[in-house]
Amino acid sequence: MAKQIIKIDVKAVKADITKLKVDVAAVGIFSDVKPTAFLKKLDALLGGAITRLKKIGDFKASAGSSVFLYTHGEIAAERLLLVGLGEKKKKAPDTVRQAASKAAFEAVNVNAKTLAIFRHNETKIDSRQLGQVIAESIHFGGYRYDEFVTRRENGRTNSLSALIVDSDMANVRKMNEGIKIGQIVGRAQNFARTLCNRPGSILYPAQLAAEARKIAASVKGLSCTILDEKKLAQKKMGGILAVGKGAANKPRMIILKYSPGGGKKSDSPIALVGKAITFDTGGISLKHSADMHEMKYDMTGGAAVLMAMQVAAKLKLPVEVYGIICAAENKPDGGSCLPGDIITTFSGRTVEVLNTDAEGRLVLSDGLEQARRLKCKTVIDLATLTGACVVALGKHKAGLFSNDDKLAKKLQTAAKDSSEAVWQLPYEQEYIDEIKGKIADLKNIGSKWGGVCTGAAFLGEFAKGLTWAHLDIAPKMDASEPMKKYAESGSIGFGVRLLTSFLFNEVF
Ligand SMILES: [Zn+2]
Repeated sequence: MAKQIIKIDVKAVKADITKLKVDVAAVGIFSDVKPTAFLKKLDALLGGAITRLKKIGDFKASAGSSVFLYTHGEIAAERLLLVGLGEKKKKAPDTVRQAASKAAFEAVNVNAKTLAIFRHNETKIDSRQLGQVIAESIHFGGYRYDEFVTRRENGRTNSLSALIVDSDMANVRKMNEGIKIGQIVGRAQNFARTLCNRPGSILYPAQLAAEARKIAASVKGLSCTILDEKKLAQKKMGGILAVGKGAANKPRMIILKYSPGGGKKSDSPIALVGKAITFDTGGISLKHSADMHEMKYDMTGGAAVLMAMQVAAKLKLPVEVYGIICAAENKPDGGSCLPGDIITTFSGRTVEVLNTDAEGRLVLSDGLEQARRLKCKTVIDLATLTGACVVALGKHKAGLFSNDDKLAKKLQTAAKDSSEAVWQLPYEQEYIDEIKGKIADLKNIGSKWGGVCTGAAFLGEFAKGLTWAHLDIAPKMDASEPMKKYAESGSIGFGVRLLTSFLFNEVF
């Protein structure tokens, strides 16, 4: 496998963007705001090119749009990229993220090695936060997944050095503080994308465990314990074992622990529990073949947990966190779990498996029980759990369920801060009743409708007494149509920003 990930670096500088010799200089424009003094100056330098462009209607500055202007020495940059910000009243961190991501995405498309982004003075966001948001977004938009491409006709840049340009030194200093955090988060998110983008036959449970081990070894305060199939059997983790039974690549439970320095021990560590089905065929309840290749992304929750743990350790957050990743490959075979089988989960509760494609909840049942035994009181699980969640919410938001209103609120705040949107759905008795079993304690599916809610209800049975939230991130498994305008297709590493924002808010 070739090492072909683009090396991205971001910093803020005090400069005049028109005098910077860069491959691409990017400037954002609102669709409904009169040109600022800076834009007027830029337009004058370019002999009125921006005014003409607007006049002929080729660039309306709508959100997500952009246009290149090729300069002839009027400004120092090779190319000027005008990025649409849409209407000013809709301005939010989301707009900034989308625009910065678009700038980096387009810069890589033209093989640029250097990019300068103009910071608007009317951006009312605090400079530190802005630095973080822009840095995360440059990493997001500049990312490409092409480690298996051996030949490219037009080559491809292997590095992108990006500058955020401001005229005020105090702003620049503050932005650089935020950029430090943003680069750590952005790189972590991109590695989560790479893990998910790798084919299922290459990134199977033992390989994910090896990656987790590497990550834990590379940063202070992070430890990693791997439970292989023998240890899983000793501990009677019947959920994860049943799911992995049919695959030659055996399941693993990956337990990461981050302890902040200074011997500070928490009596109630937080647990992040991630579903990592490295490939999901559905098992004996086999899926349709159309789009089945996308099932390599069924490990998105686990990848997000792994990389959020790395961020927590790199930023030395003063909070004890466990990351529990339930990794298995779900395949049909002579030894596979059968529909109708009754399994005994780690918790001791029995489950009738009515559909082997509802396997995420089975591996997570053991993960949630593991969190309980580690004495974690706040437990958040992330899983690309149900297609029903995509039916309910489309591809725009992840589903949020919780047995605790305060925790749900905190996750909604983190979602806002990180622009990784969630929408709360009901965790209520009528759904719980649907998954109560007749010949076992529980069954792994409910009735025909509301599968996103019955999936959550099933998990809730293993989170009794815990402050628990479940994120069904199936809608965010990969880039949706609008996002493909400013980011690489495939995995978007959803959850890394959301979880790290949640952890930040817990401690700062
Ligand atoms: Zn499945």
